[in-house]
Amino acid sequence: MDANAQPRVLIVGAGIGGLCLALALRKHCGLSGADIEVFEQATAFTNNAGGAVGLYANGLRVLRDISPELLAAVRASGYDYIYRRWYRHDGTQVACARESELSDDPELQSLGIRRWRLQKVLFDATTAAGIKVHFKMRTEHVQPRADGTVDVTFADGTSRTVRVVFGADGLKSRVREAVVGKLAAEFTGVTCLMGAAKVPRPMRGICFPSSRTTKCHGCFYPTGEAEQIFQLWHEAFLAPLRQAETVIKLGVFSRDPLDTWVSLCGRVVLLGDAAHPPVPYIGQGAMMAMEDAGVLSRLLRHYCCAAGTKPFDPSDANMQATAAMYQQMRIPRVTPVLRSSHALGRTQQLRAESWWYNLRRELEIKLDVFRHGTLPIMKPGAAYDFVREVQRRVEPQDDDVEQLVAKAAAEQRGAEGRRRVLAFGAVAVAVAVVWMAQRRRA
Ligand SMILES: Cc1cc2nc3c(=O)[nH]c(=O)nc-3n(C[C@H](O)[C@H](O)[C@H](O)COP(=O)(O)OP(=O)(O)OC[C@H]3O[C@@H](n4cnc5c(N)ncnc54)[C@H](O)[C@@H]3O)c2cc1C
Repeated sequence: MDANAQPRVLIVGAGIGGLCLALALRKHCGLSGADIEVFEQATAFTNNAGGAVGLYANGLRVLRDISPELLAAVRASGYDYIYRRWYRHDGTQVACARESELSDDPELQSLGIRRWRLQKVLFDATTAAGIKVHFKMRTEHVQPRADGTVDVTFADGTSRTVRVVFGADGLKSRVREAVVGKLAAEFTGVTCLMGAAKVPRPMRGICFPSSRTTKCHGCFYPTGEAEQIFQLWHEAFLAPLRQAETVIKLGVFSRDPLDTWVSLCGRVVLLGDAAHPPVPYIGQGAMMAMEDAGVLSRLLRHYCCAAGTKPFDPSDANMQATAAMYQQMRIPRVTPVLRSSHALGRTQQLRAESWWYNLRRELEIKLDVFRHGTLPIMKPGAAYDFVREVQRRVEPQDDDVEQLVAKAAAEQRGAEGRRRVLAFGAVAVAVAVVWMAQRRRA
């Protein structure tokens, strides 16, 4: 199959990372909608399904970089957080932080959004940009070929041969197998119930109730062969369960961070959960996928489009340079954020196991909020400005071509001036030498 006859870029997975990448590539790499295709295993988007995601400044910057209108549409589909609260099962407040501590930019304030609404906004923007999302197309196998292209085979038996494949296919990624082989994620032992209920919250913002004693977290009594009674926390927590419209159950899985996210040829590149599955405690999993997409698109612009001055050229050398810099930038960024998330999860567990630990932890939270305005563990995630980071690493002048031209002209003028001074000096010395020689002869 002729690779030129096929879209040049194929993205596996129309989740948060895959759709952000499709939009960012269209924006930054001069690719037309027809150059990019997204293949998704699901049959269609399901309205009203799933839970929520918290969006923080670092991920919102990626949306704004794609387009301010996209950011506005996402904001309009979500609900701003004002507060971040910690309290006990009985309703006693431990601490309350203002979410604006994470960013002072009004457009980048944290918000909560139902996952399907975020997906819908991204999907609508993707189709409006002319990028085709193929549903019911499960990727089974990805195989780089000797001629520098990549074969992608789908469950229905069809295949595509393309120049570059991005694996945004989540925790159980098939694309990852072409990079590091088969890898399983481990069940952390935590199961999460996620649901939606029409119950007003007394204060606007995200909150983390926690129990002081093990007795109050939840109790399940077997009362028959196929029957059990459960009792949970405080009345306030039961209302959303009682009035739940949708509930789904998810196991929380985890895996050690990968140290390779790209294939040797640089033509198969992983992003999002496919490269780094998070645990949900710090709420940065989707933000890391968005950052990956933002950084990748900017690096591709730099290496494959000569900083936006040439058409997209995914040659071996360009893709290898992109892939190497992507790994160099992303692994040291993502690894500590994911470690913080694991650490925060461990504290939650310990709080339920020991009243003494819980007391200490409550004190720590109070002090942190008093000293830092919020938990300091939240700040490095939100503060990351991916454009600045890319510029710092590879494209210090890309965004300011005028400045670049002015600087080059000034340098040229300086060099010409220096040349003139040198020439003048040389002539002056020559004249002086001749004059002295004539005087000596005289
Ligand atoms: C309970 C819970 C709460 C969370 N809360 C937050 C939060 O508050 N904030 C936050 O930032 N993150 C949160 N996360 C994490 C976040 O949801 C993920 O990190 C994020 O969705 C990753 O995006 P992704 O695009 O990499 O993967 P996904 O969003 O999982 O998308 C992967 C896509 O690929 C498709 N796919 C999979 N395999 C194939 C295949 N073989 N072929 C074709 N398509 C395929 C899937 O159907 C899916 O559409 C939470 C996660 C959990 C479990």
